[in-house]
Amino acid sequence: MLERSVVSWTAMIARLAMHGYGEEAIRLFNEMEESNIKPDGITIISILYVCNHARLVGLGCSYFSRMVNTYNIEPVIEHYGCIVDLYGRAGKLRQAFDFVCQMPISPNDIVWRILLGACSIHGNLDLVGQVKRRLSKLDPKKSRDHVLLSNIYVIAGKWKDVANLRRSMTYHRLKKTPGWSMIEVDRTMHSFVAGEKQNDTAVEAHQKLRKIMSRLRIEGGYVPEVGSVLHDIEMEEKEDPVSQHSEKLAVAFGIARLLRGRAVRLVKNLRICRDCHTVMKLISKVYEVEIMVRDRSRVHSFTHGFCSCRDY
Ligand SMILES: [Zn+2]
Ligand SMILES: [Zn+2]
Repeated sequence: MLERSVVSWTAMIARLAMHGYGEEAIRLFNEMEESNIKPDGITIISILYVCNHARLVGLGCSYFSRMVNTYNIEPVIEHYGCIVDLYGRAGKLRQAFDFVCQMPISPNDIVWRILLGACSIHGNLDLVGQVKRRLSKLDPKKSRDHVLLSNIYVIAGKWKDVANLRRSMTYHRLKKTPGWSMIEVDRTMHSFVAGEKQNDTAVEAHQKLRKIMSRLRIEGGYVPEVGSVLHDIEMEEKEDPVSQHSEKLAVAFGIARLLRGRAVRLVKNLRICRDCHTVMKLISKVYEVEIMVRDRSRVHSFTHGFCSCRDY
């Protein structure tokens, strides 16, 4: 481009970030600053996203303070949310909690939920009670919080709390978000839901998946992660075995139908679970295929047994 505005720089930085090219995104941000283009609030969100996903806590905090002190950009709730995520992902839960308590604007339910999610990922029960209280004041009937809480209790082995939550979900008639994955084959979008076997496409996907899984066991040394059944981030498919999650079915269908050498691209409405993530890595290695999964949070690019998110 002959002329690059803050919009074009930001668009490129955001895409690099989403695909896990953290270093390149940071380099581009520096180049943008050197060419005297001032970042805006959205550019800062993108660069904070980079730091969140690359565990660059110190750098993320320095971008945040530069935003305020150098660029005079007033932080909005999204910026604060990014910093909570930055601390939370890195396991600095107490710092995340203190940050939320000291925010100059009042934290919304999303900010608290980011913190609750971090407690869930790290299996930390210490702050759960306090976060839960604040969340239930803001948004008392969200099934997602019940799901996150349920995960935390499962990891901590608090089965009584899990049972209580389940009962309360039934009582309030709260529904979990159903998980689905989609893949385009021959210019048609095919959609998969865990455990579903009603149509020919699903039957074909199940058959292929069984073959793939047995090959992964033999050639890839795959061992199912028992924890994943319990740990699944949304638990949307908990009733079904983890081996039948929708993204596994979609990728199996892609491998059955797509030409060899073509990348398998799919979209998932929720976050990919740990076991599916492991399986995707193994498929990319054993079948020598590139797989891209865009989930609710980011794009995971699997090649040669590795993922662009570096398992973070
Ligand atoms: Zn899964
Ligand atoms: Zn990944």
